[in-house]
Amino acid sequence: MSEQKIDNRLWSNTARNLSPYVPGEQPQHENLCKLNTNENPFPPSPKVADAITQVLAQQADELRLYPAPESDDLRAALAQLYALDSHQVFLGNGSDEVLALIFASFFTKERPLLAPDISYSFYPVYAQTFGVNLVQIALEKDFSIDPDTYRQPCSGIIIANPNAPTGLLLSLAHIRKLASEHPNAVIVIDEAYIDFARIDDGNSDMQGSAVSLINEFDNLLVTQTFSKSRSLAGLRVGMAFGNASLIESLTRMKNSFNSYPLDKLAQAGATASILDPEYFKQTCQQVIDLRESLTTQLIALGYQVLPSQANFVFARPHDGKAKEVASMLREQGIIVRHFDKPRIQEFFVSPLARRSSMSV
Ligand SMILES: *Cc1c(COP(=O)(O)O)cnc(C)c1O
Repeated sequence: MSEQKIDNRLWSNTARNLSPYVPGEQPQHENLCKLNTNENPFPPSPKVADAITQVLAQQADELRLYPAPESDDLRAALAQLYALDSHQVFLGNGSDEVLALIFASFFTKERPLLAPDISYSFYPVYAQTFGVNLVQIALEKDFSIDPDTYRQPCSGIIIANPNAPTGLLLSLAHIRKLASEHPNAVIVIDEAYIDFARIDDGNSDMQGSAVSLINEFDNLLVTQTFSKSRSLAGLRVGMAFGNASLIESLTRMKNSFNSYPLDKLAQAGATASILDPEYFKQTCQQVIDLRESLTTQLIALGYQVLPSQANFVFARPHDGKAKEVASMLREQGIIVRHFDKPRIQEFFVSPLARRSSMSV
């Protein structure tokens, strides 16, 4: 429907005032190399398709029944993976839905929510949708986060870690500091890209994930997703980890909105992915290798490239003409993401292609 024909007379004020998130373009032409929504260049574990096929072949009759409302098997598999209790795990239809329920559950108009000024662009959208007072805290000049700049009364803090679109990682020491300095606020660490982070902390399974701090802080929530590191953006599975009381609040919020966010096929597929750790480790490593080689290539071409711990790199051409480079790449059939915003307009985001050799 074209803009002029929309009649919003019957809309609520809430609906009228929304300004929805605009996802990266999803072109339908096969010959385009689509690198703008940070999906994984590798396919999911073959065990995912096996599990879904098995449900269809053997339990198709069960599709007439509602799925497990709290995704019990998947929750148990995730709890085991991270050595948590099932009551510390929450599941939703993609981590975007989990984030929406977090905004609705914990953040307020009266006490602000703090977030970096350059971060995932869905946060301001949720703030508006749920009437949350979002206060943006400026990143440092080098795009890092200084926890001292968050010292003010708030109902919560939300930080993507690694951050998007910079790819920079905040240390667990800094997250610890934020959680202990704000005992009356919910600290949300959005770990959409954490599986691509490699930290030498002697605990290679955790790789710097704040999930390791959950038993230490009852005000810490960590969200993750199957969309990036597990190559399952199309299945829509996301999760939150935290203290059982925080998880109970999310469950109540979910059950006041949609009791069955994950269908049977998604639950079976996601569980199968968790049960194939070898494949997961291997593809994460391949993505990390691609990231390092793209970084090296771009630096050789004179680009400034931030040290990314994610599955994309944030790069600035030497003349700062990122918008021009992005449209030039578009003409060659390669879509990258450029944000026409202060401080970052001279950069573009390049996710990784399976065979990465960009001619820029
Ligand atoms: C991709 C992404 C998400 C959303 O993931 P879904 O699980 O697909 O909804 C959340 N946060 C960040 C920072 C992301 O990049």
